Amino acid sequence: MLKTLVQSVRPHEVTFADGTVEQFDGIIMATSPHALGPLLGFPEAERLSSLKRTSSMTVLAAFDESDVDALDGTGYVIAKPEGNALTACSWMHKKWPHLAPKGKALLRMYIGSEHVPSLLHEEDDQIANFALSELRRIQKVGTPLFTKVERHIQTMPQYEVGHKQDVRAFEEALLKWDGVEACGAILHGVGLPDCVDSAKRAVDHLHLRQAVTV
Ligand SMILES: Cc1cc2nc3c(=O)[nH]c(=O)nc-3n(C[C@H](O)[C@H](O)[C@H](O)COP(=O)(O)OP(=O)(O)OC[C@H]3O[C@@H](n4cnc5c(N)ncnc54)[C@H](O)[C@@H]3O)c2cc1C
Repeated sequence: MLKTLVQSVRPHEVTFADGTVEQFDGIIMATSPHALGPLLGFPEAERLSSLKRTSSMTVLAAFDESDVDALDGTGYVIAKPEGNALTACSWMHKKWPHLAPKGKALLRMYIGSEHVPSLLHEEDDQIANFALSELRRIQKVGTPLFTKVERHIQTMPQYEVGHKQDVRAFEEALLKWDGVEACGAILHGVGLPDCVDSAKRAVDHLHLRQAVTV
């Protein structure tokens, strides 16, 4: 069931927010860090879920390419001492040319976590204008053809000392839950390759455990 909130997970069983309960041979949890603990409801999961997280926002802006400073590269990161609210700007049309038609430029700006609380309740237009004004302190851009704001609230885990032990305790506790595995940024790394690896491991574990119980 796509686009349906899950309320709780138990061995082989998922309860959805609308009250529907369904049985499954195997369940792989790939939820946001904050959701893992409440969904599973055991202490090791709750502990992992309570790890520190930060928020960010991205603003995508499309331009005529002639309205953007030419750049030999695919974007840049902005060091904190520069005092800019943006932490990076990706030149999406250079990284992945299929994302924009010829003659157009697509820029993604990343707003740093410390600026998110004051912007959180602003309208998208205001957030986009703020990001563009910060961008214009670094490079020349014209008027965007369109902008799109995305909010990533409390999604980025900040691992602290002891994280590995917390993950190990969680994984050991989960072993007692037949047919349930977990993956994602909350476990062994936040980068996409880490998340993909953890998803592959979860699938392998599930198959292995099913083979052992057959
Ligand atoms: C702005 C930004 C830029 C990034 N750039 C890069 C990059 O360039 N390279 C890189 O390697 N990594 C990057 N990352 C990190 C990487 O994208 C994330 O760590 C990764 O996407 C996390 O994947 P995930 O599957 O663990 O969680 P998510 O992708 O957050 O997926 C969790 C899903 O669970 C769903 N969910 C939550 N609660 C429930 C519920 N109760 N019921 C049902 N569904 C639920 C959410 O809706 C969400 O779809 C970036 C992250 C951010 C925020």
